[in-house]
Amino acid sequence: MANLSELEPGTLPPEAGALRDEVREFLAGASFTPRCDSWLTGADPAFSRALGERGWLGMTLPERYGGHGRSPLERFVVIEELLAAGAPVGAHWIADRQTGPSILANGTEEQKRRFLPAIARGECFFGIGMSEPDSGSDLASVRTRAERADGGWTLRGTKVWTSGAHLAHAILVLARSEPLDAGDRHAGLSQFIVALPDERVAIRPIRGLSGEHHFNEVVFDGTFVPDAMVLGRPGDGWRQVTAELAYERSGPERLLSTFMLIRLLHGRAADTADPAARRTVGRLMARLWALRQASLAVAGALAAGGTPDVPAALVKDLGTRFENEVVDAVREHAGVEPDPGSPDPLARALAQAVVQAPGFTLRGGTNEILRGIVARGLGVR
Ligand SMILES: Cc1cc2nc3c(=O)[nH]c(=O)nc-3n(C[C@H](O)[C@H](O)[C@H](O)COP(=O)(O)OP(=O)(O)OC[C@H]3O[C@@H](n4cnc5c(N)ncnc54)[C@H](O)[C@@H]3O)c2cc1C
Repeated sequence: MANLSELEPGTLPPEAGALRDEVREFLAGASFTPRCDSWLTGADPAFSRALGERGWLGMTLPERYGGHGRSPLERFVVIEELLAAGAPVGAHWIADRQTGPSILANGTEEQKRRFLPAIARGECFFGIGMSEPDSGSDLASVRTRAERADGGWTLRGTKVWTSGAHLAHAILVLARSEPLDAGDRHAGLSQFIVALPDERVAIRPIRGLSGEHHFNEVVFDGTFVPDAMVLGRPGDGWRQVTAELAYERSGPERLLSTFMLIRLLHGRAADTADPAARRTVGRLMARLWALRQASLAVAGALAAGGTPDVPAALVKDLGTRFENEVVDAVREHAGVEPDPGSPDPLARALAQAVVQAPGFTLRGGTNEILRGIVARGLGVR
């Protein structure tokens, strides 16, 4: 329980207010069509570069690597404004959120100099090469193999659900580099940076039910990775990937994927006398407020150098369930049907949310797995 009971309420630094105003001003003048779940499905490389120019990517990376030396709480302010606005942040999201920090923590000087400044400029996007056709929750069972070759490694295997691989400049791939040791399944895994395009990497779209394309199947067919592109120590992949998942799970994107729906319903409710719609907006906002406080507390613990993995799992479980409940509640009270081609922004946003909702509680680790982590943290498992 220690990890949960030690969490302090999150407090934003005094400079957060001015930063928030700056981001709002930028967003008010930017040209984009807001959408639900924009951090996964709203990719616009030009918008990413514009954020890079403002210093809002790689915010927590050191200045000597092109970053901005700012705190995770300042980054929290920027990303919650971008998410709330439904801005097209999907292209750079993974690189900014987790690959950059992971390269900073584990990479060689050469890797840091090559990738971090480009990530901070919004010119280098990454994919996450973890899941496979038979390995999702049980990540240690990955079957992609890395075999020793002259001056590097050869990768063979298939990854699935690789978000944004078709836009990425590189994928960070988890592969088994030593034979499976039944006594320690976590040993013998390594992470490899595969620069794209590569003629021995096939990237094929996996389309959603409505035909949209954001994730992919990625096949490595004898792909050569030079030693210089191994991330961290060979065999240490499990520790690195676990730390990377902490970044992946803890942010406000796990509460705000459907915030646009609340905002749009709020606009409608203000114009109508429908008391049920007003009550719904109030109820959702009250819950969001509590969840945001919890998410902020996790960000505060990260900023203080902690590893709040149990609270992060709890926030992601509660936050993603909330995101789904928003879809149901707004659908009930909006008085419009989901329609991707509608001129009505609420009907369009509903359509985007309905299509994406099944993934909210799966991506980044399913809620069942997260509850297992929370149960262990509480000492009841
Ligand atoms: C929108 C989206 C984007 C994604 N993007 C990426 C990406 O970019 N890169 C990447 O590598 N992966 C990505 N994923 C994959 C995601 O990480 C996996 O879907 C997830 O880890 C679950 O794995 P699985 O799909 O193989 O399901 P499984 O692991 O097969 O699980 C199936 C069901 O069984 C349950 N289950 C499994 N094990 C247990 C257990 N021990 N106890 C209780 N219940 C259990 C699960 O909770 C789930 O409900 C993405 C997924 C989605 C939906």
